[in-house]
Amino acid sequence: MTRHKERGVVFPATDDMSRLPGLSSVSPSLLEDIFNQLPEAVVVADKARYVIYINPAAERLFGYTRPELAGQRTAIFYADRHDFDDQGERRYNPAAASGMEDYRMSYRCADGTIFLARTCGGVIRDPNGEASGYIALIRPARPAEKSIDTLQRLHAISANPNMDSDARIHAILELGARHFGLPVAIQSRIDGEAYLVEQCVSPDNSLSPGTRFELPGTYCVHTLRANRPIGFHHTAQSEIHDHPCYRDFGLEAYLGSPIQVDNRAYGTLNFSSPEPCGPFSQDDLIFMQLLADTVGHEIHERQMRDRLSALARTDELTGLANRRAIMEVLEWQVAYSRRSGLPLCVLSLDLDYFKRINDTWGHAGGDSVLRAFAAILLSARREVDRCGRLGGEEFIVVLPDTGLAGGRAVARRLRDTMAATPLPVSDEESIPVTLSAGLAELAPNDTVTSLLRRVDGALYEAKNGGRDGLCVAGE
Ligand code: GH3
Ligand code: MG
Ligand code: MG
Repeated sequence: MTRHKERGVVFPATDDMSRLPGLSSVSPSLLEDIFNQLPEAVVVADKARYVIYINPAAERLFGYTRPELAGQRTAIFYADRHDFDDQGERRYNPAAASGMEDYRMSYRCADGTIFLARTCGGVIRDPNGEASGYIALIRPARPAEKSIDTLQRLHAISANPNMDSDARIHAILELGARHFGLPVAIQSRIDGEAYLVEQCVSPDNSLSPGTRFELPGTYCVHTLRANRPIGFHHTAQSEIHDHPCYRDFGLEAYLGSPIQVDNRAYGTLNFSSPEPCGPFSQDDLIFMQLLADTVGHEIHERQMRDRLSALARTDELTGLANRRAIMEVLEWQVAYSRRSGLPLCVLSLDLDYFKRINDTWGHAGGDSVLRAFAAILLSARREVDRCGRLGGEEFIVVLPDTGLAGGRAVARRLRDTMAATPLPVSDEESIPVTLSAGLAELAPNDTVTSLLRRVDGALYEAKNGGRDGLCVAGE
């Protein structure tokens, strides 16, 4: 009799249970009669998961007639093929544990509509305990169940340590599109009148990140004005039916919310569809706010991470790349030069008699000279050249696609500018400062280390040669 328990049929706990005949004695036609009356959808499949029976409620729910399902596997009902495979591994296989289990699943109707449903399903076994097929009872989820399901998924996204902020925002767009049944999802950044699509989801990938719109041409202009979540479920019948977004894109349904980051409107989160939908409830608007707040938090996290990473690569005093960052640039450029065959030069710079400046004008005077020199360095280089401060009064410039002649020209321009520009040691006073420079071009057998050693040697020579000059490695 335990078999009945396994099948999930609950009998009163009585010692007489063994005398109950069990379902094996119930006539199949009676069962079919019951299924035909049942308000819940019933799907029965054979061992290979081919549909062998659906009741009228299932025909109504999924929009298929029985003949249309002949020869179809139950995969036809799933919104996502992965779920079909996953359920096959979990419960719809002959080796699965006995018993009916309750779970939530997303299904797809014949017309493509996706819905969430509670499902109770499991293996059908014959009196010998052999699997003969599978059965599932399906009931569309109530709004509260849907919200719990979405909340669980939102939590799983936020708590996933393997996703960065961008991946989380993308997953939230997919989640919202599915929750609201609105297939176009956008996270925008708004700057004045410019509306930039930062991330998006669209059914045929017709919309891509980086797309720009004029803010007045989007429904989000209303969302920002309202400064709270708003929705139009059937634009043709709403007060905004003459909005340019409706005229241009024919979007019938829209649900959007401002995204706040650091207490300022950063952009919007919105979901839309060319099809009208049912009216939005108060809960939908609350949910929208929740999603937008979560996205706002992710954007804030991303900004903090970007700021930290920039700080970790910047020299605090001069704003130039620090040693770590400029070394990364150099390593990348050396590898690139190897692949492209383009020349690469490195210029090493050291201010002359800098210790004296510190001694005479104090450390603050020295710092002021370093800042002013960094500004000159930035103005003398080309856009592609990268400047870094190695420490103290030592600097390095990486010159991509540049041979020795180009490197000499940069050094000369720098020297001329320095000669013509006294650097400030205080608010009132400026003094002339000179520098020594070493230049080296990447040779075929160079590594980053040997290139740096050669350029250092050239700088050392320039110092020994009396300073205020340039020496080229190997000359
Ligand atoms: P040379 O012409 O041979 O390059 O002589 P120099 O005096 O420029 O070089 P030296 O290496 O003897 O001295 C560099 C000085 O730079 C010593 C150090 O106290 C100072 N220094 C290092 N970092 C900083 C900084 O961040 N700010 C200031 N103001 N001084 C610094
Ligand atoms: Mg020096
Ligand atoms: Mg030095």
